[in-house]
Parts: sequence; C-alpha cells; structure tokens
Amino acid sequence: MPVRSGAEFIDGLRCAPREVWIAGRRVDDVAADPVFARPVQAVAMLYDLQTSSEHREAMTCRDAGGAEPYGAAFLTPRSQADLVKRRLAMKVWAEASFGMLGRSPDFLNTTLMAWNDSAEFFGQRGARFADNVRNYYKYCRERDLFATHAIVNPQTDRSKASHQHGDPFAHLGVVEKTKDGLIVRGAKMLATHGPTADELLVYPQPGIRDGDERHVLAFGIPCATKGLRFICREPFDDGTQSAWDHPLGARFEEPDAVCVFDDVLIPWDRVFLYGDVKMGNALFAQASIRNFTGHQTAVRGLAKCQLIAGIAVALTRAVKSDTFLHVQEQLGECLGYLQLIEAAIMLGEQKAEPTAGGAIRPAYAPLQALRYHLPKWYERMVQVTQTLAGGGLLVSPTEADLRSEIGPDIARYYKGANAGAEERIRTFKLAWDATGTQFGQRMLHYERYYAGDPVRVGASYYNDYDVAPLLAMVKRALAAG
Ligand SMILES: Cc1cc2nc3c(=O)[nH]c(=O)nc-3n(C[C@H](O)[C@H](O)[C@H](O)COP(=O)(O)OP(=O)(O)OC[C@H]3O[C@@H](n4cnc5c(N)ncnc54)[C@H](O)[C@@H]3O)c2cc1C
Repeated sequence: MPVRSGAEFIDGLRCAPREVWIAGRRVDDVAADPVFARPVQAVAMLYDLQTSSEHREAMTCRDAGGAEPYGAAFLTPRSQADLVKRRLAMKVWAEASFGMLGRSPDFLNTTLMAWNDSAEFFGQRGARFADNVRNYYKYCRERDLFATHAIVNPQTDRSKASHQHGDPFAHLGVVEKTKDGLIVRGAKMLATHGPTADELLVYPQPGIRDGDERHVLAFGIPCATKGLRFICREPFDDGTQSAWDHPLGARFEEPDAVCVFDDVLIPWDRVFLYGDVKMGNALFAQASIRNFTGHQTAVRGLAKCQLIAGIAVALTRAVKSDTFLHVQEQLGECLGYLQLIEAAIMLGEQKAEPTAGGAIRPAYAPLQALRYHLPKWYERMVQVTQTLAGGGLLVSPTEADLRSEIGPDIARYYKGANAGAEERIRTFKLAWDATGTQFGQRMLHYERYYAGDPVRVGASYYNDYDVAPLLAMVKRALAAG
C-alpha cells in the first residue's frame, strides 16, 4: 500500500474496533465517537498532507527499485541530505498542528526506523528477535501505520522496584510463556493517542532493577487486541467546543490513556525483547532512540515555541504594550529561544555520526541538551505570554456574546490600539487556549514530561558527558598561575 490518506487512516480505525473507556462509557468505534472524532480528524489531516500535491514530494520517499513510496519518517538516513529530508517532512506535520500534536505518527515511525537500523541489538538474545524487529518495521512502513507507545509503569509506589510490589502485576509483566507467545498482565501508563492509533508499542526505559526480569518487555501489537483496554483521562472537549472560542483545544486535543492488559497474548513474532534487565536498561542508548526522536521532537517543539512567541508578539502589538522597554526585553528573550532551538537541530545534523547498522544519526549532545532545556524555555515563554497579556487573558467574551445584542458594547470596549475588537478578543483567546485552559495546561505538562523525568534527563546528561576536555582546561588555567 502507498502512503495513506486521512480517509484511509480513518477506515483503518473503523475496521479495528478496540476497547476504550472514557467518562464511564465504553467506545469501540473511536472514529464515530464525538469525543474522539476531532483527535482522529487531526491525525487524518496529517495523513492528507503527505498525499497532497503540495507536500507529497517532501513527505515521502522511495527505495531504489522499491515499488511503493513510504512516509519520510520511516526513511533510514544514510547522508546529511537524508537527515534534512526527514527534518523538512517532520516540519510540515509540526507546523500543521502548531506543534500541538506531540505524538504525531512521525514520532514512533522514527523509533521503528531506529530499531530497524539497530536490529542487531535485539538479536543479542537470538536472531529471531532481530528478524521480528525488521519485519515489524517493514509491516508498519508498508501499511503506513500510526503507532502509540506506553513505556512508563503506573505510579503505584515509586520507592519500590516492579517486583517488590504486593501485586505482582501492578506493573505489566509476563504471566506465562506459551508456544504461541507471551501472556502479559498488568498496566502501563500512559499512551497518548492509545485509543486512536493503529499499533501500540511497549518497551523498557532505563532504571530497571535486578529482579524485574518479568517486567522487561518490548513488543508491538494492534490497539485492537483482545484483552487490551484503554482507560482515558477525562476529556477536555466533548466534541462541542467552538473553534472560535478554543482555536487549539477544539482541534488538537490528544487523548491520554492508561493501558490495561488482561492476559493478552503477544505472539512470538511481535516480541522484540524480554526478561533481560541489562538489555532493557541499554535499549534507549544503544538503539539510537534518543538521537532520532530527539531530532523529531525538536522540530515539533520549535513549531510550538514559534506559535507561543508569535502570540506574545501579537497580543502586545494589539494593545501597543510592545512599546515598553521591559516588554520588548521579554519578547526578545522568547525570540532568542527560537534561534537556540533551531541551532541545536542544525548542530545535531551537522555533527551526525555513523550507527553500527550503517545509517547516520543526529548527534546526541545538542539534541539531548534541547530535550532538557526546551521544556524550561517553553514554560518561560508561557509565563511571559500570560504576564504580558495581563487581565486581558481572562476577560474575553464568547463568539455568542459578540454576535448578540451586546455586540456594539463589545466592539467599542474590546478593541485594541492596533486591532478591532474581534481580532483582539481572538488573539487573547488563542493566548489563553495555548497557555491557560485545560488544553493549554496539558500542553505545558506534556513538554515537562513527554520525554521522561526532567531531573533524570538532566542528571544523565551530566553522567554521559565527556567532561575530560573541560577538566583539562581547568588544569591549564591553574597551571598558568
Ligand atoms: C501529557 C503527557 C503525555 C504523555 N504521553 C506519553 C506517551 O504517549 N507514552 C508514554 O509512554 N509516556 C507518556 N507520558 C508519560 C511520561 O513518559 C512520564 O510522565 C514521564 O516518563 C515521567 O514519569 P512519571 O510520570 O511516572 O513520573 P515519576 O517518575 O513518577 O516522577 C514524578 C516525580 O517524582 C520523582 N521521582 C519518581 N521516581 C523517582 C526515582 N526513581 N528517582 C528519582 N526521582 C523520582 C521525579 O523526579 C518527579 O519529580 C506522557 C506524560 C504526559 C504528562
């Protein structure tokens, strides 16, 4: 199958009913459900871009002699030009959602590509696991599937390892090995787009302790698998929010769900890794996951930061507060972050290094630095935007007010020096939706945590960094005295 359109993505969901629970209801057909229809449409919009005449060239590629084109996030980069190709394709999707769709399909397509290139890592416990990874990558690429992932254990008792919990399946673990595969039971938190994706990937994060062998698992299964249940958080938009009043929240909410596995069979050909604590801890670093997803998330994060910076500029210009020096200084601070993000992306590409599998990967150091700093810069940009908006952030009426008999009052008292009332209200509403509503707060919390605990991300940056040249410099400085 060539790359999919939005309609084909939606058809795929319809053909694969899954068990989803939201606000006390069970939903099987997410594409038809009012709560999920918009998140599904948002992803369908991305798929439509890669089949559009405007973007098809940038967003797809074809192997020499390959029959069908495939999505650029599946492209294994072998040159700088390939890295640029990947970036430009990711940029189209990132900008289409203003970076609000954190888990757009290119995120995990990128992971699958990295795994395929690192198949030998999985092969350490038997060649069949390397084959499973290669075949699964091919399977997803050929069908242009949308994968989600759930890699974190639920927050039951963080002071204990998984095997120390009273309930042996509080965290997902193997119940039994059968001739057909592994039977797994327990929960994983959390899968964004779990209810609305095609495939679910589970894999281990570093920090696994000896004794947790049963809980070390990497596999990929359809979201529509018997015994797999998605329990969603309360939705922010029940499908009726006005896009005029909530320009982002009414279009780009991503469902988040805990995944419960009720004795689910993982067929052997979908098992990539199990039972090995050492390999579970090494997966992220040795399968180039951080390098490649760091590239994708930086491109997406840049689009999101560009929107926030744009909003901050627009709202201050609307009321001419951008004429004040301290306001200009804060706007300058935000605009500077955009340059730093772009610089780290470029440096990652420029310092690309070969992988053991024969690809090249963006350099870890600049992109991992960004992974730590971008959430903090984003938080700062949100703070600046809210502060510069002042009380205007919380006085915006609705479209219904504007069109009602009090419309003339609104036209008179809500206009700005540089904007009519409607434009000013909509700009401030956009600011609130991006930073303050439930949707806006999720956007902030997403940046804080989507890539793991920032404390451990920062600490591992120190632990991984080659500080020898710095210490040599210190010695040289001391020697001078
Ligand atoms: C909006 C959103 C969307 C997400 N989407 C996905 C997704 O699609 N797929 C996915 O797999 N994950 C997703 N995540 C989850 C994300 O991976 C985790 O939130 C993240 O890894 C942090 O883990 P945690 O939430 O369990 O926090 P914890 O690890 O419980 O940390 C919470 C706090 O406790 C401290 N703490 C806890 N345990 C320790 C410890 N052992 N050592 C030191 N400090 C500790 C941390 O420093 C932190 O301050 C998402 C998260 C959010 C917020």
